[in-house]
Amino acid sequence: MNAQNVLVVEDDTALSDLVGGLLTQAGYNPVTIADHAQIGAALDKWQPRCVILDGEIRSTGASRTWEDAAAIRRAHPTLPVLMFTADGAALAEANAGTSRRSRAASFAGIVSKPFVIEEFLATVKSAVEGNIATADAITVFPDVGQLAADWPDMDLIGMVVHELRAPLTVIRGQAQLARRQIGRDAAKERTAIDTAIEQTDRMAAMLTELLDHARLSSNGLSLRVIAFDLVGAVVEAIARHDYEATPRISLQRPPGNVRVRGDAGRVAQILDNLLNNAVKYSGPGDPIEVSIAVERDQARVRIADHGLGVPEGERDMLFTPFYRTTRTRHVPGTGLGLHISRRLAERHGGGIRLEDSSNAGSVFVLTLPVAT
Ligand code: ADP
Repeated sequence: MNAQNVLVVEDDTALSDLVGGLLTQAGYNPVTIADHAQIGAALDKWQPRCVILDGEIRSTGASRTWEDAAAIRRAHPTLPVLMFTADGAALAEANAGTSRRSRAASFAGIVSKPFVIEEFLATVKSAVEGNIATADAITVFPDVGQLAADWPDMDLIGMVVHELRAPLTVIRGQAQLARRQIGRDAAKERTAIDTAIEQTDRMAAMLTELLDHARLSSNGLSLRVIAFDLVGAVVEAIARHDYEATPRISLQRPPGNVRVRGDAGRVAQILDNLLNNAVKYSGPGDPIEVSIAVERDQARVRIADHGLGVPEGERDMLFTPFYRTTRTRHVPGTGLGLHISRRLAERHGGGIRLEDSSNAGSVFVLTLPVAT
């Protein structure tokens, strides 16, 4: 057994990079996985001394954390498991250890998001060394095992707070790392600051999406409608996403212009969302085929990728706010883009649908009314 292996189960890559880096600096050997289904195999393979388990509620609804921790406890009764969470209620429940599921999970400790580096490392150290602090206050919680939140009932504010906390945790962690490097290692200080800045961009993009979502829900979104050329808009959108040396996005287009009526900025946003997803959920360099066609009074943009595809049973959920499929959890995202894009397309008198999806890729179709 390698005395220093620590298994980190966290699907946010920026967060697992931060945690992995801190553990490495502290002399541990972090093994990070994004997929909870791989926990059992990772435990057998790496024989860790401690597990850090993402305690967040994922966008598909119920958190698996408690069941995962209980499964680890059954298979490895003495292995310490730490819950990594931003959820104050889960934190208090796990700390008290008095509910049925918290007894079954029996967490050795809790790391809250955001965290103070020293406290985080102290918690890991005491878990690895077996000095597990016991809670001194006792609170009784209802047994929520059967009542764990289902996706459709997830409250919006909870989801938003969760989504914003991941980048915030990274920003805070990287800022602490940068502060440690002041006057010592300028290159490391710069890397930490750059990572923090990247995460502020991610937060800003999320806030823009949330605002769009809120405005669409309350009917408070206005469109600046003009007649413009859809072919030009698609060509420009492709140029924003095809930045590799070898082009991967092909375009089939009718000769001449295709005039549509709409808000050019919002249509660009929809195209960006669809192309961004096609790139994000495909392998590097996999081809993406875009085609434009006109049928009667509708212009149609088809975007076909050869990526992960959408599992059969999840296709109906795809356009629901915050929904992310089981195949894509390891890739950062909010699950808001498709919902917003569809609502925007509908506001234009058009729509978006998933035309086809298999294990070999997906085809999304955007329709917009042609300008008369
Ligand atoms: P995000 O990409 O931020 O998660 P979206 O609302 O744009 O949000 O997409 C919602 C979900 O739909 C994604 O998380 C992913 O699971 C799935 N999805 C979207 N586009 C594709 C695609 N081209 N291939 C496979 N899955 C996709």
